[in-house]
Amino acid sequence: MRYTVQRLAVYDREVNLATTLDQIKGVGPKTAEQLARAGLVTVGDILLFLPRKHEDFTNVTTIADLKPGKVTIKARCEKISTRPVRRGLQLTTAVLVDDTSKLNAIWFNQPYRTQQLAGGDDEFYFSGEFEYSRGRYQLTNPSAEKAADLPVQADRLLPVYRSVRGLKSQMVRKVLEQLRPLMSVLPETLPESVIRDEKLMSRSEAISTMHFPKNTDDVAAARERLAFEELFELLLASQLNKRENQKLSGYHIPFEVEVVKQFVAQLSFDLTSAQRRAAWDILQDFERATPMNRLLQGDVGSGKTVVAGLAARQAASSGYQTALMAPTEILARQHAETLDALLSPFGIRVALLIGSVKGKARAALYEAIANGDVDVVIGTHALFQEKVVFQKLGFVVIDEQHRFGVEQRQRLLDKAHHLPHLLAMTATPIPRSLALTVYGELDISVLNEKPKGRLPIITKIISPVSAKSVYDVVDKEIAVGRQLYVICSLIDDNPDNDIKSVEAEYKRLKNSIFSHRRIALLHGRMTPIEKELIMQQFKQGEYDILVSTTVVEVGVDVPNATLMMIENAEQFGLSQLHQLRGRVGRSHHQSYCYLMMGTTNKPSERLREIEKSNDGFYLAEVDMQLRGPGEIYGKAQHGALNLQIATLADTTLIARAQHVVKRFIDRGEDMAKYTVLSEQVRYYQRLTTLN
Ligand code: ADP
Ligand code: MG
Repeated sequence: MRYTVQRLAVYDREVNLATTLDQIKGVGPKTAEQLARAGLVTVGDILLFLPRKHEDFTNVTTIADLKPGKVTIKARCEKISTRPVRRGLQLTTAVLVDDTSKLNAIWFNQPYRTQQLAGGDDEFYFSGEFEYSRGRYQLTNPSAEKAADLPVQADRLLPVYRSVRGLKSQMVRKVLEQLRPLMSVLPETLPESVIRDEKLMSRSEAISTMHFPKNTDDVAAARERLAFEELFELLLASQLNKRENQKLSGYHIPFEVEVVKQFVAQLSFDLTSAQRRAAWDILQDFERATPMNRLLQGDVGSGKTVVAGLAARQAASSGYQTALMAPTEILARQHAETLDALLSPFGIRVALLIGSVKGKARAALYEAIANGDVDVVIGTHALFQEKVVFQKLGFVVIDEQHRFGVEQRQRLLDKAHHLPHLLAMTATPIPRSLALTVYGELDISVLNEKPKGRLPIITKIISPVSAKSVYDVVDKEIAVGRQLYVICSLIDDNPDNDIKSVEAEYKRLKNSIFSHRRIALLHGRMTPIEKELIMQQFKQGEYDILVSTTVVEVGVDVPNATLMMIENAEQFGLSQLHQLRGRVGRSHHQSYCYLMMGTTNKPSERLREIEKSNDGFYLAEVDMQLRGPGEIYGKAQHGALNLQIATLADTTLIARAQHVVKRFIDRGEDMAKYTVLSEQVRYYQRLTTLN
């Protein structure tokens, strides 16, 4: 980010936002080096390095006066020690004293507290939960700040900074204290009209408040202002993307009733109404002058592939090629088979381009794609290769789109002369707040309906003591012809934990419980050809049981497999469990999913939620509550959205920002007027666009 350079005399020197920190009074070479390692080089860098949270020291209590709840005390540490309680849990206990009394404190898995607090007369501020536990009152997981490190009048809110590479909050606070007079020159980024209408704090006041807070109300107002700004920029970026897309010209693919009717007539099932609606949306987009930019969102098993197939049929009829990109070879091959079955009756030529197609065969395939002898190409990353040249690529389908990075999608889209129509498909439901922000430029179709006759999957949490009875139930189902997935999170045994590995579990089941069954092993370290073969054989019913890692997580479709056991289910995330479970429940037979616990501990909320619900949309909301949206969508889908203050869970603020962005755009203001703003917006535009 660039800054408007403003000058201000601080002490005896001219300092501005671009001044390097080593020139600041009180910052020696060592400090400057520490700061630089954390990415803080200039005055501007450190002013914009916002605190992660604020510690409340406005209410320091004496130990004798403590009441249960969140408390802060000023005390010395009399005794402290750490001991392992069991695998994965270290307990640190301490005795804290002040002039009035003594108090026990405990920390879970924070062994460094021993070193921080041991052996001294130093006073610390401890902030934490004062609660009754195991027969006595104690302070649980308190934070600890050395009193001597705090500013003179410590009885206030204290900013706590991210400790990037060992950076100490204390050091940041000291440097900022020197720069305090500069706060007022931080340039405004939001349009003045927005600040006025929304009654927001100015940017300089907000940033200053974050570093030098007076009370919690001020901090809340400052946070709101900064969060609003981030959302405003993100939403503006996505609206600008949308407008830019609308100026592009796309390929015109007319809707032909007969073509679509014929396609639907040869299906072995009726389309659900949700599938019809989605197909209709797509065919309408094909007719427009601008390229389609659509997200097809449908829970696992909702039947997205056939919708893509129908659209590819229509595209081919107008002479356009379709490219379908899948995240794994197993999935690419499966799609190639499905689409070939759907499309070859109409003379459409479907080809598979994956890593294992080599040598002459590959060269021949390139040629066929280049001169239009192939209509639909399905592949993995191999589709990105420079050598792949399409004759007339009009339609791009990206399956499980959240698995791909922005650049990867970009490279595929670059292969067309005009921007092709884009259909991104995902089974990870996107909560509404996120759809508005990150995907604001996309049109969305939703498959909110499962094909007819599907029974809800029965899901059960199983503790180690009842595993035996599950094996009996499962074996009865196998006896009548059903198939079973056993999922393990690890390939090899790890001596440091009790988690079942796929290798060991395969051997164990094969040699004991299921010795009378046909059983196969699948994991990511096998060669693509080995994996294909096993998958193929499992699909054809040559095995009863597939013991696998999460390589079967996305997309795999074996309708006769109706049983799933997920070992050490507590190791998996909620979305992942839902995705895995989606491998069963794909036929009219009753399906079962057993969440096998590795311990006898109480099951986590995650497991209880997944046991209760089959609804991917509901579970996505729960997951967002439990983990925070950044964890799920930020990293996985967009590198990082880089929201520092705002959270995508704040739907009220998002709606407000949405409204203001719309007004701003409708006014037709000139973006060039707002230098910093437009730079930031361009950054978000690159981050969020799909094409
Ligand atoms: P997903 O949305 O998870 O990608 P798929 O496209 O793999 O789902 O479809 C799941 C299964 O449901 C496939 O075996 C497919 O043939 C079948 N299927 C799709 N649509 C219907 C329908 N309308 N009625 C019955 N079965 C369907
Ligand atoms: Mg799929």
